[in-house]
Amino acid sequence: DGFEAAGLAEAVLRNVARCGYESPTPVQRYAMPIVMGGRDLMACAQTGSGKTAAFCLPVISGLAAVSSGGYGRRDRGSFERRAKPRALVLAPTRELAAQINEEAKKFSFETGIRVVVAYGGTPMYDQLRDLERGVDLLVATPGRLVDMVERSRVSLEAIKYLVMDEADRMLDMGFEPQIRKIVDMMNMPKKSVRQTLLFSATFPPEIQQPLTLVFVETKREADS
Ligand code: AMP
Repeated sequence: DGFEAAGLAEAVLRNVARCGYESPTPVQRYAMPIVMGGRDLMACAQTGSGKTAAFCLPVISGLAAVSSGGYGRRDRGSFERRAKPRALVLAPTRELAAQINEEAKKFSFETGIRVVVAYGGTPMYDQLRDLERGVDLLVATPGRLVDMVERSRVSLEAIKYLVMDEADRMLDMGFEPQIRKIVDMMNMPKKSVRQTLLFSATFPPEIQQPLTLVFVETKREADS
């Protein structure tokens, strides 16, 4: 009934132990087997519930189980300059993105998975240099990500996991156009099969419709 039951990768389990987590929180217990089983998820979870680990642990396990196929690491001298992450975590604020990045880095220790963060309000230079060293999991705020994709520094064509954290807050902050754009860009040049995980503290009616739409769109495009 502990973290082992979810089927997480050995290296990830060692990192959980290093963090001193003894047993999963309710949202972790619920979400991890669903994500490990390859299914989509919409979950109601507040800050402090352990939601970050609930998506980071199975996503990092899933990434570690499959070779990056050259997407994460780019050869020196390759003409391909765009970074191609295999997992994308969208968050509303730079503070939250930075927190998720910190936690994801702890959980990916000795897994070979590279985590990079990209948020606005700060020069892009250091973030681009991080991306150039290779990326498997990218944590980003919507505006900065759209900017990077439009400058051809990031490609979303290899995304296998899309996580939307605090989705209600992203919509409240007016990020719906950017989120839709990101969902569209993930299908360029061809549609890929991916898992979508959506976390929201609340599901009030004015948020339900756009949230469900983004979720269903992501799903349908991946399926067709
Ligand atoms: P979050 O809801 O993701 O912001 O996490 C809240 C806090 O709980 C963070 O400081 C985590 O490090 C911690 N945490 C998450 N999962 C566990 C767990 N299973 N056992 C103990 N602490 C945890």
